Amino acid sequence: MGVDAAEKIIVGIGISQSGADQCELMKGVDRVAGNMGRAPEVVVADGAYTTMGNIVKMEGRGIGLIGPAIDREGRRRVEFERTGIKPEFFPEAFRYDEGRNIYRCPEEKELKYWRKENPPGTTFYLYRAKGKDCVACPSQDRCCPRTAEKGRVVRRVVDAPEITAFNQKMKSEEAKEIYKTRGAVAEFPHAWIKDKLKLRQFRLRGLRKVEIEAVWACLAYNIQQWIRLKWKPAKLGGLDQCAG
Ligand code: SF4
Repeated sequence: MGVDAAEKIIVGIGISQSGADQCELMKGVDRVAGNMGRAPEVVVADGAYTTMGNIVKMEGRGIGLIGPAIDREGRRRVEFERTGIKPEFFPEAFRYDEGRNIYRCPEEKELKYWRKENPPGTTFYLYRAKGKDCVACPSQDRCCPRTAEKGRVVRRVVDAPEITAFNQKMKSEEAKEIYKTRGAVAEFPHAWIKDKLKLRQFRLRGLRKVEIEAVWACLAYNIQQWIRLKWKPAKLGGLDQCAG
């Protein structure tokens, strides 16, 4: 659901069976653009939508995205806990030698460049130690407890400029203040529809019928908002900011 931030009017709605919200952001923007004749200038979305891929796509469309900064540190810690790597052997304990394009581990062994991966919005350069070094290493149980025979791998991360700029933007007070408005804008229509229309569960089955039911509920909400706005001196505003 896309909601105009100025007047809290629903400007786009879509039905999906996908459990991954991130796949819905660009579709939602396209729906809003189709309904309103132009895309929003700014979209405020929660962390489920602000993936690296979506950040790059929104930048490419010239739409300002506001959402939580990419929490790479949190993800990294989860990954290391899962693989049993202790904090003293996290990648920052490895020294990068730019001239030779290698890493040197805390036991002074070399990790040679192995390969590159390109997930959306970033590039991972992977470096790998020799398996025989890791198997014989006294620190192996803390540095490489599960895959010593293959050799410890360290990743050098180079973000796309869009990701760096997004994270920088989300440090600003202005962006943080805008993000704080998301709950009131995007959640209010959901709460209203649940409370006033008692629509907590769709009564119909099948995507098409569910979509019809959802559209009717949103229409009822929008009419109620229109009645409220009719008595306000300001007319329905332009589509400057949208939250979902
Ligand atoms: S396990 Fe391998 S990478 Fe880790 S400290 Fe030992 S030799 Fe170096």
